[in-house]
Amino acid sequence: MKRLLLLTTGGTIASIPTVEGLAPGIGGDAMAHRLGPMADHYELTVRDILHLDSSNIQPEEWQVIARAVHEARNRFDGIVVTHGTDTMAYTASVLSFMLLHIGIPVVLTGAQLSIDHPLTDALENLRAALAMAASGVPGVFVAFDRKIILGTRAVKTKTTGFDAFESVNAPLAATVSGSGLNLHIQPVHDGEPCVLRNRLCRDVFLIKLTPGLNPEIFDMLLRMRYRGIVIEAFGAGGLHFIRRDLISKLHKMTAAGIAVVVCSQCLYERSDFSLYQTGQKALDQGVIQTGDMTTEAAVTKLMWILGQTSSLEEVRRCFSTNLAGEISYFS
Ligand code: ASP
Repeated sequence: MKRLLLLTTGGTIASIPTVEGLAPGIGGDAMAHRLGPMADHYELTVRDILHLDSSNIQPEEWQVIARAVHEARNRFDGIVVTHGTDTMAYTASVLSFMLLHIGIPVVLTGAQLSIDHPLTDALENLRAALAMAASGVPGVFVAFDRKIILGTRAVKTKTTGFDAFESVNAPLAATVSGSGLNLHIQPVHDGEPCVLRNRLCRDVFLIKLTPGLNPEIFDMLLRMRYRGIVIEAFGAGGLHFIRRDLISKLHKMTAAGIAVVVCSQCLYERSDFSLYQTGQKALDQGVIQTGDMTTEAAVTKLMWILGQTSSLEEVRRCFSTNLAGEISYFS
């Protein structure tokens, strides 16, 4: 029987009604109890590590989760982490970097309805997560609506639908069907030791361009001592420079040693800032491209890299390297 660890952190899956609205209130033991005889397929250990709505999960909590997973990795065949859906994609991405070379499956899951709701999707999602955790495929994943998504590729795209997560720019890692858990990737462990690298830089800002954005916002970010900026630019890669010149601000930022990373507001496919004049001008200022990474992966990768180094060259090198499946196409 596979030895699995269930770590709980809160979220809707564990929520109960309160006078202030839904809030986490159901612990891991109760959750395992709701699974009924299904849980008997595994040797299940339960640990409650946080009791939070995932809107309250921040870099400090990511470190708590990463530490708990890292400490337990040699005693279990796989680990399931229950988590609110709202920021699950960020947590899955950042854990993928903090726990590089994790030799076991680490599977995040949650639900759109509390496990106590009569129509809950929690049991379905937990079943898929446990099956993936028992699969022997190492890495960080999200299990939701019978789909298993690589942690660095998960994006929440629906507020209430049970199919709340998509695998963006990458095939699903596995699916659940009448034939069981169908793995679409091979269980390969690279044999590298998993060293917990959980230092993160919190001074990373994500800015979504809007037509006519006032360039002075970048002066403010400089004054606030941000060390990294991710810009969600337009389309394949463009920023405005007539009338309101964002390009000269990019120059100012990179000259000040700020890591400026550029991606697209489009959810699907890659960005390529070399395509248009409006993008090339940005590349000339030393901004770093993200290829086909999700915004969640770009932001967390930057937070993670800046937690390890202050060398902009190292940041650039790291961004062009596929660490945890986050890039499959680099422009
Ligand atoms: N607000 C909840 C959370 O992210 C939503 C959910 O879990 O579905 O914790």
